[in-house]
Amino acid sequence: MIQPRCGNGSFQYRRSKHSPRPSSPILKLGDYTTRVSSRIKTIIEDSSADIRIASSNGDPAVVGGRFDGGGHQTIDFDDLDELDQGKGFTKESIVIHETVEAYEGRNTTRGTPLTPPLHITAIDYENDVRISQWKPLRVANSPVEGFVQEANGDITATVDFTTHVARITIDGRTGDIKKVDVDRIP
Ligand SMILES: [Zn+2]
Repeated sequence: MIQPRCGNGSFQYRRSKHSPRPSSPILKLGDYTTRVSSRIKTIIEDSSADIRIASSNGDPAVVGGRFDGGGHQTIDFDDLDELDQGKGFTKESIVIHETVEAYEGRNTTRGTPLTPPLHITAIDYENDVRISQWKPLRVANSPVEGFVQEANGDITATVDFTTHVARITIDGRTGDIKKVDVDRIP
């Protein structure tokens, strides 16, 4: 879980009514590069921005993280446990991705869809964390990345991690993550 933090501005990791009590923090800024920690510091201390990261657990409407617009974002901690596998996603890099993306979207209206430039900046910081974790870089704008509707109604999301590819199978009816496969690209 995440340690809620307060700065000069309005910045918070907010528990939803469905999420459990925070235990040990997974976001410890000293663990990452100066670039990542100074970015997070900026986000926390920006008194002009209202940044709120909501947390959920097993919310079918959220796959890992969700852009909510206007500086709001949701992270699903149940999904983080499932997504964190091998050379694929890592919890810490997802948290940084979602936090940076919330901030990049601070001047958008709540409810506006995510646009590629915000997501690409978020991937850039996600990759900074991945480097410190000795994981291959996530490829921005990869032709491999996307969602495919399977014949049985499930949805497969594919994410490109340079040497590996993560395939997330999402139940088409419930929206729950059914399985996560991380395979080496031949
Ligand atoms: Zn994103």
